[in-house]
Amino acid sequence: MAAEAAPRDPRWSDWTWQMRHRIRSEAQLREFLEPTPEESQGIERLSQHFHFVITPYYASLMDPGDPNCPIRRQVVPHIAEVADPAGLADPLGEVGHSPVKNVIRVYPDRIAFCVNNECALYCRFCLRKRMVGEPEWAMKKRELSLALDWIRRTPEIRDVLLTGGDPLVFSDERLDWLLGELRGIPHVEIVRLGTRLPVTLPFRVTEALCEMLARHHPIWLNTHFNHPRELTGEAALACDRLLRAGIPVGNQSVLLRGINDDVETMRALCEGLVAMRVRPYYCYQAQLLEGTAHFRVPIERGVELFKALRGRTSGFAIPLYVLDTPHGKTPLSYPYLRGREGEEVVVETWDGKLWREPNPPEP
Ligand SMILES: *Cc1c(COP(=O)(O)O)cnc(C)c1O
Ligand code: SF4
Repeated sequence: MAAEAAPRDPRWSDWTWQMRHRIRSEAQLREFLEPTPEESQGIERLSQHFHFVITPYYASLMDPGDPNCPIRRQVVPHIAEVADPAGLADPLGEVGHSPVKNVIRVYPDRIAFCVNNECALYCRFCLRKRMVGEPEWAMKKRELSLALDWIRRTPEIRDVLLTGGDPLVFSDERLDWLLGELRGIPHVEIVRLGTRLPVTLPFRVTEALCEMLARHHPIWLNTHFNHPRELTGEAALACDRLLRAGIPVGNQSVLLRGINDDVETMRALCEGLVAMRVRPYYCYQAQLLEGTAHFRVPIERGVELFKALRGRTSGFAIPLYVLDTPHGKTPLSYPYLRGREGEEVVVETWDGKLWREPNPPEP
């Protein structure tokens, strides 16, 4: 269970206080838990490689008595990250799909625009570890303007996903400016935010932020809960504020070994999200990314896991299990459609029966 509540600073729920008091060293981590030897070695060996940063809020959800705590494993370095010979720095070839700095285009009509290289904390399985927290990937205002110019002269782009890093780490003023610029481009129909802050720093979602975002509608937002223990009152309040501002909130999780790769945990996550009115959208297969071998689950087992939910919970509580590739996302679906037999198609139903549906071919 979560850490014994230490006396908290009166500014605990001020997001800027949380940002200034983030855990960046083993000594600071010890205020929350005693690292295992594997964690200590991980912190030491990886100190130059992939930033170790945790918000006090998220750290307070860690279980100091359990080295396998699903919160702890997402953010505390571990020596297992050092041994992953198969892992790649950029498994999606994002660098090669970038027409202008930090814009990734794999689809004709939509882009991922990495507006910020910073997050509130760094997830050990982050797909963008090559860039998050690395100063060379920061976007100066002039570079943001260059990317906006590229969008302006690319009329096919109708959907812009602001991601990173995390766009909500920006100040309200900077985000307001950026959204205003995008809104001024007639062919940009929707703007989406990809942000983990409702999970890792829910206090960022202030009334003022939501009012500002609502001035730039249509805004959609996808966040990133991975485990039911992340569904706290604070996180629920953040999602409720966004929803009341008219922003549809979806969730994109990652299938992580020992964290959410069993049916009961995934069900609790998805049903808990739906209870907060957050729609599970995607669950990603963990990429062949450097330092993440200990997190990866074989795809066949992932397919079985989501099949086990079908028919046993609300249909909209089940996310689409997907694999991201250098060509875009592809669904990893159980093949319910078995094929045609004469004038019928044969399908498997959720409870494992075969059903023959009369289905004459095109005349
Ligand atoms: C995921 C992603 C998108 C958005 O894809 P949807 O399936 O529409 O959610 C757009 N561009 C890139 C590069 C992406 O990775
Ligand atoms: S919040 Fe997202 S972008 Fe940031 S470190 Fe975690 S997974 Fe990576």
